[in-house]
Amino acid sequence: MKEDKIINCLAHNGKVNVRCIRSTNLVEQARKTHDLSPTATAALGRLLTITSLLGKEMKGEEGTITTQVKGNGPIGTMVAVSNNKGIVKGYVSNPQIDMPLNSLNGKINVGGAVGKEGMIYIIKDIGLKEPYIGMTPIVSGEIAEDFTNYFATSEQTPTVVALGVLVDKNGVKAAGGYLITLMPDATEDEIVKIEKALKNADSISKMLDDGKELVQIAEMVTGDSNIMYFEDDNVPKYECNCSKEKMEKGLITIGEKDLRDIIENDGKAELVCHFCNKKYLFSKDELEAMLEKM
Ligand code: ZN
Repeated sequence: MKEDKIINCLAHNGKVNVRCIRSTNLVEQARKTHDLSPTATAALGRLLTITSLLGKEMKGEEGTITTQVKGNGPIGTMVAVSNNKGIVKGYVSNPQIDMPLNSLNGKINVGGAVGKEGMIYIIKDIGLKEPYIGMTPIVSGEIAEDFTNYFATSEQTPTVVALGVLVDKNGVKAAGGYLITLMPDATEDEIVKIEKALKNADSISKMLDDGKELVQIAEMVTGDSNIMYFEDDNVPKYECNCSKEKMEKGLITIGEKDLRDIIENDGKAELVCHFCNKKYLFSKDELEAMLEKM
């Protein structure tokens, strides 16, 4: 399996920006971590893919981006968090939810699982006092369209968003995505070229499954066979950075009264990390020590 990768490209003499990601391994890691059904793999996989791609652009040493999709469908809430190296983690309320394939196109029915009503939230934290929070309504629940709408309305940047996860009974075969953003000086002629190229291009998951490289994909979807591209050695990954210290901080936020209740009623606390399902056990002594510090 090829390594996951992110590249950043300029097409049409710098007037069009294309960012591409191959996320097959990280989506497979998410599938294994949460024992995701094929539908949940496709849904959370798409969200992890775009979050990793957007995370890569976050400024500051500690920059992170959190995306949440809260639709009215049976999958419940989906959350993904990425740092500025594209290291991503996420979870979904109902990892086992599986839907019949979409009868119109035979594809996994992500929109049906997510729901057509609800909101998407984008929280960018670059270490300032207040994080930036953007939100827009869900359009179709297919994730790519929902983010297209987010970029157009919340960030006022017309952006083409493509996300795809190809999954079979053995797991994730291919996953990835791309974002195409037009600079203000892009001409009508170039826009027409891109529209034509997009019409002719296969889906992102098909192109990746066919073994196409990200640069080739960027060229195919922009109709420019002479793009400039940048890549670094960072490999986007699915990885959780939880620790007992972080869990303790979370536990303290429930407040003195609730913590006292836990000590009296249970005599211990077991916390499970949403992102990696790792269990953290706090003994009575540890809980009492926390109480002292409050
Ligand atoms: Zn964790």
